[in-house]
Amino acid sequence: MRVIVIGAGIAGLAAAWRLRELGHAVVLLEQDAEPGGRCRSVHWHGQWAVTGAVAFLGAEANLIEQARKLGIDGPGEMQDVSAAQRWNVLVKRKDAVDFGAFDLAAAARHPIVPLREKARLLVALPKLARLMLAADPHDITSTAALDDENACAYFRRLSPTFVDYFLEPCMAMFCGYGEDDFSLAWTAWSSSGRLAWGGQHVWTFRERGAGRLTWEMGRHFEADPGTDLRLGTRVLAVHPDEQGVRVETCRGSDSETLRADAAVVAVPGHRVAALMPGLDPARRAFLSGIDYAGHHIVYYLLDRPKGDLLDTYVLPAADGFRRTGNLRFTDLGNGTTFAHSQWKDHGCRQHAHESDAQLLEIAWSDVLEALPQLRGTRVIDSFVSRQPHAICKRPKGYVRALRDFRRLGPLPHVAFCGDWLSNSTVGQSHWTGLQAAEALAARLA
Ligand SMILES: Cc1cc2nc3c(=O)[nH]c(=O)nc-3n(C[C@H](O)[C@H](O)[C@H](O)COP(=O)(O)OP(=O)(O)OC[C@H]3O[C@@H](n4cnc5c(N)ncnc54)[C@H](O)[C@@H]3O)c2cc1C
Repeated sequence: MRVIVIGAGIAGLAAAWRLRELGHAVVLLEQDAEPGGRCRSVHWHGQWAVTGAVAFLGAEANLIEQARKLGIDGPGEMQDVSAAQRWNVLVKRKDAVDFGAFDLAAAARHPIVPLREKARLLVALPKLARLMLAADPHDITSTAALDDENACAYFRRLSPTFVDYFLEPCMAMFCGYGEDDFSLAWTAWSSSGRLAWGGQHVWTFRERGAGRLTWEMGRHFEADPGTDLRLGTRVLAVHPDEQGVRVETCRGSDSETLRADAAVVAVPGHRVAALMPGLDPARRAFLSGIDYAGHHIVYYLLDRPKGDLLDTYVLPAADGFRRTGNLRFTDLGNGTTFAHSQWKDHGCRQHAHESDAQLLEIAWSDVLEALPQLRGTRVIDSFVSRQPHAICKRPKGYVRALRDFRRLGPLPHVAFCGDWLSNSTVGQSHWTGLQAAEALAARLA
């Protein structure tokens, strides 16, 4: 079988990988000059700066397995950064409280949460445990029954402090989500995944960070005679028919139509419907409702040693930080400090029309507001990685709608994969790619 994979993000790369393992020929089409999509790094002042994903959350086994197959899973290559995932939530812009990333149980026990709120959280615990146990960590739609409740609203009734200083910053910082963007279904599912996949561990690679994985996979496919990797090639339309698929592409001013037995569409969810003009109204309705949260990362090289700055500062929206989610500082040992600030969805949307230079200025003003001790520091250089479509949102009703979309069944010669079918993480997107390849190969065998 010859299969065209559209999009060389982690999902498309995983689909191509599994198709090759199953013995099929692959044409892998990517519009950018490099593979990786939202999991890619650039070299900047001697450091690797991630433009998208930072680390692998939850030690998702399929990623570890992928790293093993690439021969980059040794201790010299992979790095357990769990210990570095201590955050300091800047409360009321002066004190910082310590807290482990995604360790919401520890957060709920924190002294900043008043005793009566703790008691209420405790009472809800059995229900939460039941929710988590009912969830299948490989299938987000297993929690569709909970999808009518918003997680922040649910927890806010129990403990406003827990939501303001832990849950909202945690979600908004890592995921770009706002309070309205995720349902209790998603929260239950992701918590169950955290338990099932050993979420205490957070991994990255010493070189290139998370982008090492997609970079290595790209190099592998470049050398693989069974894969025709075409970078800088944009897909304009996918037309399934009785024999297979017809895919219209363009590269610069050249256009070409390719034929294959099947296609895997591995582009972000909000782009799928536009690529498939013949798609039925039911599928189109779901796809057109998919929305993405923005998440920008601003990098700085500062003319000062790190000194008494903490490694991380999380900035809660409750304290007025609606744009910047967190700040991170690394001492480079030569009198300079490498720093980055991450912008939440709200800020990305509010400042969508500003230039990079304006954005950098506003971002630095946020840093100075959070940490006045940085006033007078010279910024040697800075740049912003803008990701207006970073993380697939999970508003109330999304999981249920996804379940209904799946129930429509597969298309004859097309399979979908990507973060919109599961969770917006490298590991989950990769997993959907493996699944799409296996399902397609089994259907067309
Ligand atoms: C700032 C940021 C921080 C993040 N942090 C983390 C993190 O720490 N940990 C984590 O696990 N996840 C994180 N994520 C999420 C994670 O990066 C994504 O969920 C994941 O990489 C999505 O992979 P994907 O393959 O589904 O989509 P993408 O990476 O978007 O891949 C889709 C590919 O399709 C290509 N494409 C689109 N349209 C076409 C077309 N018409 N023709 C040809 N090619 C096309 C795109 O160029 C792209 O390469 C972060 C994301 C961002 C943006």
